[in-house]
Amino acid sequence: MKKLKNLGDRHSCLSFGGQECLPHDDLPHDDPTHDDPTHDDPPRVAGDPALVALAAALRADAPAGIIDPAFRAALRAELVGSVPDLRYAPLATPVGQVWVAFAGDKLRLISGKTEAEFVAGARQVVGAAPARAAEVPARLARRILTAIAGQRQVVAADELAGLTPFQRAVLAQAQRIPRGEVRSYAWIARAVGQPKAVRAVGTALARNPLPLVIPCHRVIRTDGALGHYSGGGQLRKPDILAYEGVNLDQLQALTRAGLRFRGSRNTKIFCLPTCYSMKHAQERHTVYFHSADEAVQQGYRPCKLCRPA
Ligand SMILES: [Zn+2]
Repeated sequence: MKKLKNLGDRHSCLSFGGQECLPHDDLPHDDPTHDDPTHDDPPRVAGDPALVALAAALRADAPAGIIDPAFRAALRAELVGSVPDLRYAPLATPVGQVWVAFAGDKLRLISGKTEAEFVAGARQVVGAAPARAAEVPARLARRILTAIAGQRQVVAADELAGLTPFQRAVLAQAQRIPRGEVRSYAWIARAVGQPKAVRAVGTALARNPLPLVIPCHRVIRTDGALGHYSGGGQLRKPDILAYEGVNLDQLQALTRAGLRFRGSRNTKIFCLPTCYSMKHAQERHTVYFHSADEAVQQGYRPCKLCRPA
């Protein structure tokens, strides 16, 4: 335990005694009062008892850590709001077992990690440790399973408590990616009006508190690599994408060949490779492009569904 000597000195200096004081930072290093042991004596104060109590508190021993964990937890709770009745339970899904934290009729956290990791994560993300429940309420379980089946779910603002407007915008864009398709981090960055914030998009998606409901697994790197996934443990990005019908091998082979867009000779429209509108296009009517410019130069226009450029 360290004594907050300087803080005590500063306090007595500024508040008590009546003598004229320099601001602390301006004190010369050889200021005699700094090494004077009598300067640590309780200040003589006549007046506000609250001020006396504050002075006493400032003179007490400091906690071992600079940031008191209890203070940090209280601050987080203050920022993300209190979470009454936060509970959690496991849920079996077609893509693996997940842990689900919920409060009332709101989802708060989903993860494929171990139970211990999940509870620790809930403390960090939601700001409170959830209590174990027998099962996920039917309505919430249905929302998760329906999302996995490909139906977009409405996510309430308080299910994303503590997230920044940018993080919310990124997650909202991820929700617009249809099942069976993928988009790049750069595509999301462009869609939220921050084309240079590709890395920040990656961070926001990696911190998605509700994977599966918010399908961040549908966002991969422009080079075809899968990138980080917030699901963890049993939830694996390639497995979920395969479950949704994405042909990753084909997609990555195209990427390796430098081919990023597919066009239809019939419609003269070009798309991202996984766009639904190209799903049933015949290979003999399909043309591939290295860049959007190349497609445009050859008389193709961008698809309005997948917005490739
Ligand atoms: Zn398209």
